[in-house]
Amino acid sequence: MKKLARQTKVIATIGPATESEEMLKLLIKEGVDICRLNMAHAEYEWIESVTKRIRKVGKLLNREPAIMMDVKGPEIRTGYLNKELEIKKNDALDLVFVAQPEPPSVDGVWQIEVNYDKLPDHINAGDTVLLDNGLIPLSVIDSAPQKIRCKVLQDATLKSRRHVNLPGIETGLPSLTEKDRRDSLVGIQCQHDYFALSFTRDADSVDLFRRFLRENGSDAQIIAKIEDQKGVRNIEEIIKAADALMVARGDLGIECAFEDLPIIQRKAVGSCLANGRPIIVATHMLESMIGSPVPTRAEVSDVANAVNEGADCIMLSGETTTGKYPIECMKMLNRIASRMEAEIQPGLTEELNLFRPKAKMLRSAALLSMKIEHSGVLVFTRSGDLAAKLGALRPNGAPLFAFTDVPGLHRRLRLIWGIEPFLIDFSNDPEVTILDAIKKLQQDGWVEKGDQLVTVTNVFAHDKVVESIQLREVNS
Ligand code: PEP
Repeated sequence: MKKLARQTKVIATIGPATESEEMLKLLIKEGVDICRLNMAHAEYEWIESVTKRIRKVGKLLNREPAIMMDVKGPEIRTGYLNKELEIKKNDALDLVFVAQPEPPSVDGVWQIEVNYDKLPDHINAGDTVLLDNGLIPLSVIDSAPQKIRCKVLQDATLKSRRHVNLPGIETGLPSLTEKDRRDSLVGIQCQHDYFALSFTRDADSVDLFRRFLRENGSDAQIIAKIEDQKGVRNIEEIIKAADALMVARGDLGIECAFEDLPIIQRKAVGSCLANGRPIIVATHMLESMIGSPVPTRAEVSDVANAVNEGADCIMLSGETTTGKYPIECMKMLNRIASRMEAEIQPGLTEELNLFRPKAKMLRSAALLSMKIEHSGVLVFTRSGDLAAKLGALRPNGAPLFAFTDVPGLHRRLRLIWGIEPFLIDFSNDPEVTILDAIKKLQQDGWVEKGDQLVTVTNVFAHDKVVESIQLREVNS
């Protein structure tokens, strides 16, 4: 039985470095599971053409990655600048709400645009504002309706359209902005499999987004991105409301104290495992490889740590959008993840709560497969739930084959730890479906004669359909 090259899944953000057919082919050959399209930078035409390209290449290589649209949520940015601005420590700077492409210095005070005019309602003297992912710290001196007067705390170069973070401050921005709605409609049109919701702060925002998707005809799943203090406080309700969680360490590391990050990550992974929700650890995993063909030793340890903690997925951002070594990054994640997985003792997650009787059977099936040499688990799913629970048990070493007849679900299942998904037609006779699935596994080179498959499925017992765990030997 062929084992999965790695059980931890990989998300690559697609950008100029990887958008071509040739590069997508290489990424997919290296086993990319999900292609992420980041709406901070993307034009709609690009989204449509790159989606088509990913789908085409995936079909060609018989390995279709899922596609995730990352919508930006309540994001505040500085305005467009005609050219970069050198600002100095102790300079006075007003945050204003009108366009300033050539920011004037009025009475020695820089006038810098931000795109949220209600900000003064939420900000007080003494608060901290961070521009450009924390590189430019400002201290608020006074907050008035037309402007927020700040003092610059560090020499810096301000570039166009920089991120604004307000650690610990609730901005009152809607969780789903007009831009998010417009972007999502394009993603729905393109049948994207996942939508990641930036700055998810509570379960209500996930519910709102889900209603929006359903009302517009999409059955896509929602990945809640945890990136600020409110999201961290409400993490348990968010995990229950969302389909998956992302620890978005880029913003989280600005909105929270650096030293809290590993603890938030560890707790988020633990809670997701207990709830059977897929969990993604994102950002700066191989940051130095944007410009270098080898990672730092600390990055290697960080990736291995995420794998060891039990993340379903690890994610590349700048490394594969604009980095010089996107394919080397994929190879590096493959090496680190598979090496770490080989070290993890086989065993099943104890904390996972399984409620449905059929889901409880998965634990026995996984255990059986781990005890039998040359065996894997075979499940059939229309909602994805059984596959998600099976992966959440983390049966290390046992290949997990999930078959569905729902187009699209076969791509979506790629997010889940250890799951190798397949799309086939289901017969009304469960026996025919099992034999078709085994044939497909043989054709694709996953199993060979003599291998065993622990199968969780329905069988006919006279006039009844009953759930069963069966041990099937591959015969031909
Ligand atoms: C992050 O902040 O870590 C993240 C993944 O989000 P974005 O890429 O939108 O900054």
